[in-house]
Amino acid sequence: MVCFIPSTNNPIILHRFVSDLLEKLKEEMGSHQYYMNRCTMLRARLREQQAKYQEQLDVLGQELQQSRTNPPPAGGANECVVCMENDVEVAFVPCGHFCVCVGCAAGLAQCPICTHDVERELRVYMS
Ligand SMILES: [Zn+2]
Ligand SMILES: [Zn+2]
Repeated sequence: MVCFIPSTNNPIILHRFVSDLLEKLKEEMGSHQYYMNRCTMLRARLREQQAKYQEQLDVLGQELQQSRTNPPPAGGANECVVCMENDVEVAFVPCGHFCVCVGCAAGLAQCPICTHDVERELRVYMS
């Protein structure tokens, strides 16, 4: 902020100058406060999202670990737990259960294994 100090000894002018200055300072602090609040809010939201993604990653990582340590029985791919016919193709987020085919996943709002609400379905491709 640019301010000129009046070169006068007139107490009325000086007094007005000081109260103007205080008013301006107050305004400026107000908008700083506003931006600081927004910054804090955005930072919190970002942290929240990061935590959520981390959680999903952890679940998927555990699932991967499990499928590595307990490989599916030789000769048979995993079977969809709903139709018992098609191969398993979809994992649920956030619970991480990998248990149904694409067709059955489309009609499910909850995981058939743990009944956790399905937030997202993750199509998994076996190489
Ligand atoms: Zn199915
Ligand atoms: Zn589940």
